[in-house]
Amino acid sequence: MTHPVLIVGAGIGGLALAQVLTRHGVAVNLIEKAASPRAVGAGLILSGNALRVLDRLGLAEAAHAAGQVLSGAQLTTAAGRPLQTLSYAASGGAVGVHRAALQSLLSRDLHPRIQFGTTVRALHQHPRGVDVTFNSGAVQTFHAVIGADGLHSSVRHLTFGDVPRRYAGYTSWRFVVPVPGPAHATELWGRGCRLGLVPIGLRQTYGYVTANAPERPPGPPQAHGTMAEMQAHCAGFGGPAPALLAHLHADTPVIRTDIHEVRLPQWGQGRVTLLGDAAHAMTPNLGQGAAMALEDAWVLGQQLITTPDVPAGLARYEALRRPRVNGVQASSRLLGRAGQLEQGALRAVRDLGMRLVPPGLAQQSSRRLFQVDLDAGLPGVSPAERPGRRDDRSAGTGS
Ligand SMILES: Cc1cc2nc3c(=O)[nH]c(=O)nc-3n(C[C@H](O)[C@H](O)[C@H](O)COP(=O)(O)OP(=O)(O)OC[C@H]3O[C@@H](n4cnc5c(N)ncnc54)[C@H](O)[C@@H]3O)c2cc1C
Repeated sequence: MTHPVLIVGAGIGGLALAQVLTRHGVAVNLIEKAASPRAVGAGLILSGNALRVLDRLGLAEAAHAAGQVLSGAQLTTAAGRPLQTLSYAASGGAVGVHRAALQSLLSRDLHPRIQFGTTVRALHQHPRGVDVTFNSGAVQTFHAVIGADGLHSSVRHLTFGDVPRRYAGYTSWRFVVPVPGPAHATELWGRGCRLGLVPIGLRQTYGYVTANAPERPPGPPQAHGTMAEMQAHCAGFGGPAPALLAHLHADTPVIRTDIHEVRLPQWGQGRVTLLGDAAHAMTPNLGQGAAMALEDAWVLGQQLITTPDVPAGLARYEALRRPRVNGVQASSRLLGRAGQLEQGALRAVRDLGMRLVPPGLAQQSSRRLFQVDLDAGLPGVSPAERPGRRDDRSAGTGS
């Protein structure tokens, strides 16, 4: 390659792609809009497929150590009555982790390369590369440009114009309380409102609340909501909720995010493409947004490493990823609609249906979701020769 690859956004997907490429000697420039490294976000569930990518990057063990291994997930009524229980053991394990801990892992050895306070102002493609104008006014040519810049992606805007984000009809609040939770994740379904509790290690529990609400006018991506606003929605929850929520204080940081989707007819054009939320932001109901960004990063990285024709490699990446991502995005949307129901009779039917689903069936569909062939479509490489390959069956089975 004559020029480096530019990755815009040092979030989960951008960092993972930089890890893949730098390990194979590909020159990478990684830029981040934030002025400096910061401890971002609340918690995340890393499901088996996310752990599998981290395993390829040699980071799965560290992820297990940084968070808490989850035995499974339990869905309950608002009062805490079980509706469905899922074990993670058969689908590659799962780890609850603080987002900042995951970002710190993914930043390993990359920190000196990240140019903070930097963003893109213009992209101009020509046969030899992409000329990028930065916010400083400097112009540099790149072999390929990857927009890993999240829901409000500038690369998407510069490539496809103003793509409307689709509001899901509900908003969310996220927080972390300094108390250990049970060894499994719990989600309680109330009336148009859900509460999730996920242990993330270091004697901490990540909590989230979703509630039906009108969309707020555009503003900062993560405007902080008030504690009182969120707590008003938590009042009716029983089970493990009251004991954990008692640890919320007026100064506990709460992140308010309206839930949006991005659905694009195409992710890339020529030498420019998108990954993660920039390409396909999805509702968080299956806990798969970060996992999809990690899978994207792995698959795109392999295409950039193995395919000399950049536009062909980027097109192949999109062809390989789109069916899976579309399926996960649609399933997550449907689950969210069911979870946010308000009407009493509909909720009763939903809850009965949830209780009647045979555990084997729920287990089977989660296995399908969490197991992915990361090597599918690698050109001209036999399974034994695939880059970074380790035995996937052992990846992430820390539970
Ligand atoms: C309530 C909630 C709960 C969730 N729970 C889970 C979960 O349990 N499991 C899971 O897998 N996913 C979960 N997700 C989804 C997950 O957070 C996202 O899908 C994931 O962070 C996407 O990663 P990304 O790298 O695409 O974008 P991000 O992580 O958003 O990173 C984008 C980066 O780009 C930077 N950036 C933005 N614009 C520019 C620019 N113009 N120039 C340079 N840099 C820029 C940003 O500062 C940021 O660092 C949840 C989401 C929500 C809202």
